[in-house]
Amino acid sequence: MSNKHYSFFGAVERSFDKAAGFTQWDKGILAQIKECNAVYQMRFPVKLDNGSIEVIEAYRVQHSHHKTPCKGGIRFAAEVNQDEVMALAALMTYKCAIVNVPFGGGKGGIKINPKKYTTYELEKITRRYTAELIKKNFIGPGTDVPAPDYGTGEREMAWILDTYTAMHPGEIDAAGCVTGKPITQGGVRGRREATGLGVFYGVREVCNMPDIMQKLGLPIGLEGKRVVVQGLGNVGYHSAKFFQQAGAKIVALAEYEGAIESDAGLDVDAVFNHRKQTGSILNFPGAKNFEKSSDALEKECDILIPAALENVIDGSNAPRVKAKLIGEAANGPLTPEADEVFAKNGTIVIPDMYLNAGGVTVSYFEWLKNLSHVRYGRLEKRFTENLNSHILGQIEELSGKKVSQTERDFIMHGPDEVDLVYSGLEETMITATHEIMNTWKANPTIPDMRTAAYVVAINKVATSYAELGIFP
Ligand code: NAD
Repeated sequence: MSNKHYSFFGAVERSFDKAAGFTQWDKGILAQIKECNAVYQMRFPVKLDNGSIEVIEAYRVQHSHHKTPCKGGIRFAAEVNQDEVMALAALMTYKCAIVNVPFGGGKGGIKINPKKYTTYELEKITRRYTAELIKKNFIGPGTDVPAPDYGTGEREMAWILDTYTAMHPGEIDAAGCVTGKPITQGGVRGRREATGLGVFYGVREVCNMPDIMQKLGLPIGLEGKRVVVQGLGNVGYHSAKFFQQAGAKIVALAEYEGAIESDAGLDVDAVFNHRKQTGSILNFPGAKNFEKSSDALEKECDILIPAALENVIDGSNAPRVKAKLIGEAANGPLTPEADEVFAKNGTIVIPDMYLNAGGVTVSYFEWLKNLSHVRYGRLEKRFTENLNSHILGQIEELSGKKVSQTERDFIMHGPDEVDLVYSGLEETMITATHEIMNTWKANPTIPDMRTAAYVVAINKVATSYAELGIFP
């Protein structure tokens, strides 16, 4: 987590500079890409339920305007600071470029521990924050579109939408001012699990690459792989569930109050429900408690998924991490010092700004849905089902054989919204994985996958600047 001596934005800049050395772009263009284009720091008062007034510190950063709107989540956490929001906004620019989502990077943060406020107080803080964004034109379907991040979810996005629409009566595309909304408020099916699903697709694709698996001394595929997940929130919970469903073994789960392990494998839903009922992940029947939560990061396993917060693996604990593959589900869980350790010992790190891009990819689908005012699949579902029924009927008639009911249901099924969203996300993650890996293979002096991902991102953003020209 952020501390006084560690600059997260500085770490992003260091990774950027390392990658820029593998490109041929003009120094000025590189400098322009790196900087945050607009930083909005605000303070506003909120009256708490007990009648006292508290001054709230909050931020919205637009890192890049090379494409608009800007896009990025809003974080509620006691550790929020300008450096952190700037770093997260920069990562969004590179993330969007890597997965070909036509947005610039943005990020927001409110410096509060949401657990310390009532629902009504949180609603007031969220609505006031939205009003501050509106005042300065820092929110809107064509300018800047927030989404959920650490400490926020569908509920907060609904408050943001409601505040925005109340202050923009009649704006036909208003629903596109924020993503990650509840379905009833213009959200898209599949957004809730999108980041975790994207993490799963990305790691699965890397595990299906024979050369990489050979290098790591692991068999191809996810089946039977031992996985450790840190953070059982939106991203960690869904990632862990998708890994378990694919036949991987969840050998440890870590939360902020502690961590548990079981070499026989943990059932993610059972652990989740245990935590909900008892208020702690610890003492799960059949599992062993770790002495402290961060010990889980050092457990013997094949794949480690840090899905909580930044800066959890640094130069000091990196040498004790035993995973062969680390999938950065959270933003910035590894410091540049940790990267150096892993580049040296051959551990593959799948970088955050590619691996957790599932959220922004499906947010893009949600935004497109809002602008088109129609649910995905509405126009083609029945047409496809009728066509499939006709084709199947013809095959059965010509062959004189009947397919089983299970096969019939599968073949007949026309796409629902969630099918199309999953399919779009899978295509996006697979394409991006190969683009990064091909860049890495084309230049073996690139030290790691993160640097290769940055090279891909820099090339795309720089091309955009170069083709647009820079406004005089
Ligand atoms: P969340 O608030 O839903 O969950 C985070 C979880 O981590 C919580 O359950 C929290 O208790 C736990 N946690 C906190 N400190 C911990 C610690 N020291 N050890 C173990 N667990 C700890 O947040 P989220 O939306 O899942 O976000 C997690 C990370 O993923 C963040 O870095 C965020 O920026 C990133 N991310 C989120 C999204 C998204 O769509 N939500 C998209 C991209 C990236």
